[in-house]
Amino acid sequence: MDHLFHIPTLMLCLSAACVIISIFLTLLWLWDRSSQALLRWTLGFWLGCLGLILLGLRDVGPPILSIGLGNALSLWSLGLIWLGCRAFNEWDPDAPSALAMAGGLLWFALVACWPRFAEDLNIRIIAASALYAGYSFLIVNTVWRGYRQEPLPARRLAVFAFGLHGLFYLLRLPVPLLFPATLNGGHPNLWFGVVTFEYFIQVLFGALAIFAMVHERLTLRYKVASEIDYLTGICNRRAFLAAIDASRARPEGDRAGAVLALLDADHFKSINDTHGHGAGDIVLTCLTGLVASRLPQGAVFGRVGGEEFAIYLPASAALINADLLEHIRVDIGAMVVQHGTACIQMSVSIGHCVLPAGRLDMQMALAVADRALYASKKAGRNCVTTSIFAPSDKDRIGGSPVHAPAATIA
Ligand code: GH3
Ligand code: MG
Ligand code: MG
Repeated sequence: MDHLFHIPTLMLCLSAACVIISIFLTLLWLWDRSSQALLRWTLGFWLGCLGLILLGLRDVGPPILSIGLGNALSLWSLGLIWLGCRAFNEWDPDAPSALAMAGGLLWFALVACWPRFAEDLNIRIIAASALYAGYSFLIVNTVWRGYRQEPLPARRLAVFAFGLHGLFYLLRLPVPLLFPATLNGGHPNLWFGVVTFEYFIQVLFGALAIFAMVHERLTLRYKVASEIDYLTGICNRRAFLAAIDASRARPEGDRAGAVLALLDADHFKSINDTHGHGAGDIVLTCLTGLVASRLPQGAVFGRVGGEEFAIYLPASAALINADLLEHIRVDIGAMVVQHGTACIQMSVSIGHCVLPAGRLDMQMALAVADRALYASKKAGRNCVTTSIFAPSDKDRIGGSPVHAPAATIA
């Protein structure tokens, strides 16, 4: 068994793994120096490396350095990883700094000032187990609470990795009471081997979970940034078209038709010119907020141009809300946006068409709705116009303005 858990080999692998992980974390932090989480994780892993080197000198160096400082550094390393997890959750990372550092300090003070502690392997095993388990469970608690606010799958992995580590030390806690370790019987060697092996697995598992959490958050943020319009928080053109595809791909989405509408703010340039671009931004945000609040379940809403928006209503939603677009037009006309001392009012022109069921070229559908929108503009703005979608007769598509609540939508 001693052969299987050969301590020098395990220590060498553990130290090498820890150094490699620390280098990768450092590079990641250099790439994103604003990350408070990466800073703490990087420092934590480097401290862990130092601690391991000192622990490796157990038989050579003075006990205060190896057993005292080596373990203290390993505990500070866990404390920093915990603070890193807090920072990753966007909580104040430094609020519990004292608690994060207390374990290492306590350990060092005990080794330095209490000779019995420094000499008694069993007391040390109990104290170390309690401290390592405590910090591991603090990490588990923080990562798990973070999962509730941002459910990244890798957070579960981190909970599992650090949870196992905590559990291992918790189970190790009573072992010296049941089977006291003696330095001369060869017995602790096996223990040290198993503990070192577990540490090795934990370092790999914990670090991979941390890298995966960072990666998942970045991927998710870039995905959202590529799909969501920054100003209004609704879908951009690409995400709008993708959402329609997804809606039509559903079994019930393909059987019936749908309504596609384009909505364009009237004379929006003059709002910018009169009140400033900032005011224009606020008006656009209010407009999207109002429209979004009026849309039924299943509708898709996106910003397809500067002051131009698109609404997709699947058949069921469109039938229930036959006069929805007219209501939206009226409500926007009645909306007053307060900006400083100014009260800004606006109107919108809307063009829409009824889409047939089945596969559809959405670019062509948008072109049809756009013709209806153009007809609304031509008819004097602030109105709703419908177009008949006739793929077989594209050029015939014109439009006629509809001012009354529109049974024409269905
Ligand atoms: P029309 O009734 O014919 O649509 O007139 P319009 O002034 O709305 O149309 P035009 O195309 O002449 O001008 C659109 C304006 O919308 C100009 C552009 O600066 C403004 N705009 C586009 N995107 C934004 C934005 O994100 N914020 C602000 N504040 N203005 C924007
Ligand atoms: Mg406009
Ligand atoms: Mg426009």
